[in-house]
Amino acid sequence: ECAEISLKDINQLASSSFPLCMRHLFGKLKEDHHLKHGGRMQLGLFLKGVGLKLEDALAFWRAEFSQKVGAERFDKEYAYSIRHNYGKEGKRTDYTPYSCQKIIMSTPSTGDHHGCPFRHFSEENLRAALNKMGVGGRAMDDIMDKVRNRHYQLACTLTFEATHAASCETGINHPNQYFVESRKIFQ
Ligand code: SF4
Repeated sequence: ECAEISLKDINQLASSSFPLCMRHLFGKLKEDHHLKHGGRMQLGLFLKGVGLKLEDALAFWRAEFSQKVGAERFDKEYAYSIRHNYGKEGKRTDYTPYSCQKIIMSTPSTGDHHGCPFRHFSEENLRAALNKMGVGGRAMDDIMDKVRNRHYQLACTLTFEATHAASCETGINHPNQYFVESRKIFQ
């Protein structure tokens, strides 16, 4: 993958091609100008995976966090972990973005926004979030049916299909795969 995304396109990409888990984190970050550790990891590694370069990632997180904690505190307390995710600090491991399975198995607590909405949202909140993506009617019923049977990735696949008016035969198993499949359709 040598695709790169630029910071100026990120809002548009989020609304067209991010899976629900990342849309939710992105929206909360914009709203609260803050995300807890689990959310920063899940969204940060996803953004790295879609091709946001380190410099742009730092600018992106700094623009939000500085509105809440100030730029100085961001540079002192948060910038390190972003460079760390890109393998520029500590053990210099190049961390890979989380798979659906890992996200579904995570255990967000109150105030956390990471996790998989199909697994971790209440039915009411999930319906509202899907509605915001333009999903309704028969597609909504089919998705909620998958959720009730704990087939979260199938629910996400149906959401992809409903919002792209296209089939996704491989099924969704990774948020970055969702993004790549979406770009193929919308590009
Ligand atoms: Fe994200 Fe995967 Fe859940 Fe879809 S199934 S919302 S891509 S974790």
